Amino acid sequence: MASLTFLGTGGGRFVILNQRRYSGGLWLDLEATISLDPGPGALIRALQYGKNPQKLDAVFVSHNHLDHYNDAELMIEAMTRGMRQKRGTLVINKAGLDYISEYHRGFTEVLTPEPGDLFEINGMQVQALPTKDHADGVGYKFFSSEGVVAYSADTGYSENLVPYYKGAKILILNTIFPASKEIDVHLNTRTAGLLVKAAGPDLALINHFGMTILNAGPEKEAKNIEDATGVRTLAAIDGMSIDLKDLKASKEKAGQSSLSGF
Ligand SMILES: [Zn+2]
Repeated sequence: MASLTFLGTGGGRFVILNQRRYSGGLWLDLEATISLDPGPGALIRALQYGKNPQKLDAVFVSHNHLDHYNDAELMIEAMTRGMRQKRGTLVINKAGLDYISEYHRGFTEVLTPEPGDLFEINGMQVQALPTKDHADGVGYKFFSSEGVVAYSADTGYSENLVPYYKGAKILILNTIFPASKEIDVHLNTRTAGLLVKAAGPDLALINHFGMTILNAGPEKEAKNIEDATGVRTLAAIDGMSIDLKDLKASKEKAGQSSLSGF
């Protein structure tokens, strides 16, 4: 089954520090098994939700902020079976590579794609996507045979992003803020809605929530996007899995979500 699972849906400094939402990024079970933006707790949440980090084929990092790369070296240790085999691939934006030790880089293939570049992981095509005004980061687009998944990473709004998101069955947008708060270097639900409407995925997911959107209610914000765009839109929750085939959302059984905190 091709699926994606949220090992964390928190974003921004305070949510990371108080773990009101977890911060483990995403786990992709596609043609390749991928840890995407492994922030603090990615290893713990992967194990909690029944994922086996030793099966990883690749670790993807969008940029060098702690909530995106903190557990990358840990995931590389798991992927290389405890640094005993040279195995798998680290895909990271160029500026982010300095944050990974030479020791860890030495045990895996390393790719540092530029926005627009195409490459393959286990025979699945992947494209690095541009971001706007956010730490020279890159998003990623995964061309799975079950459907295309586009992940914005952290980015400001630009209509120039739209062509890169088109054709995605699932569009995941890191939407730190509610519509009431505008900021150049991040999406809010208003600008996320513009991207959803223009790109037209089958399913949009907002993710990577800061305190203000958690207080505003991510489900309500997602509903506003859905009403404005006509595109089914969900607010991600910790441990949520999406089946790529039928786009059904379910909650991984193991463990307990940090949702209980509010
Ligand atoms: Zn972030």
